[in-house]
Amino acid sequence: MIPFPWHRAALERLVADRARLPHALLVQGTQGIGKAEFARALAAALLCETPQGALACGKCPSCHWFSQGNHPDFREVIPEIDQEEDEAEADAAKADVKKSLVIKIDQIRALADFMALTTHRSGLRVLLIHPAEVLQSNAANALLKTLEEPPPATLIVLVSDQPARLLPTIRSRCRVLPLPTPPANEAMAWLQAEGVEEPRTALAVAGGAPLLARELAAPEEVALRRKVMAELTRPSGAEPLTFAERIDRPALDRTIYWMQTWVQDLLRVRVGAGVRHHLEHESMAKAKARAADADRLFDLERELRAARRLATHPLNARLLAEHLLMTYNRATSGTRT
Ligand SMILES: [Zn+2]
Repeated sequence: MIPFPWHRAALERLVADRARLPHALLVQGTQGIGKAEFARALAAALLCETPQGALACGKCPSCHWFSQGNHPDFREVIPEIDQEEDEAEADAAKADVKKSLVIKIDQIRALADFMALTTHRSGLRVLLIHPAEVLQSNAANALLKTLEEPPPATLIVLVSDQPARLLPTIRSRCRVLPLPTPPANEAMAWLQAEGVEEPRTALAVAGGAPLLARELAAPEEVALRRKVMAELTRPSGAEPLTFAERIDRPALDRTIYWMQTWVQDLLRVRVGAGVRHHLEHESMAKAKARAADADRLFDLERELRAARRLATHPLNARLLAEHLLMTYNRATSGTRT
């Protein structure tokens, strides 16, 4: 488990101070910077029998288990498909439905044995939960009980890019570790090494988050971005009905992401800053921003943020896309309607 270069310093600080590790750590930061990978590298280093500074050695039995995914003192909890919802959706057009992914109470209850056993090797046990914001409320409450009476020699690591969605009582029991977006030069170097074409564009549209940038550089992602941006930069305004008709469920979340980053760019241009995400549309951003109603843009940005949270739930993709594009047109048309 080699950490990303931009996480190295934070990792070193934690591992150097391992005697004073908290019971629970909340690793938070923007989407696509590698927070889960950071948490895994931390776990590997803490469990390693012969760590090299802040890094796991990669050679000891503990590291071997870790890399095989069967270290007895490490557990990772990730979301599962919500079955109940799945059954309720049985008649819906399946291919078009993106399932909700949640962390369920059974998954938290199933950790009881892991938490109760004595640890095997280094005396420490690490539990990683990500993304923590998808804990269902009963699962969150079950986890809270564990956090209130933490088992000895246990580090619970929660990872989230939307920490505001966690129970405040959970947040307050964690030491918060904010992970920053890496400096552009480090992110660029990494993207180049990963063989990403047009790394500058990819990094910009990803708001500086390298892992997200790599994901967004995939040909089908680039195609979708161009399609959405062509719609949003149309001088006469978007065509909500025609566009929404062609939008399918899996593309919805990303479509909303592109709208969100574009509206953020317009808001930046309004206050005299440059575009951050859509560098190739700078002049259109200026034209749109001039005509736009700032209050409506702010409202739309809020609405898009809320819509992204909903985008993983079953709802009518076409209607939502249509509604958001109509709201976008009203916010940028320069006429109060
Ligand atoms: Zn090792």
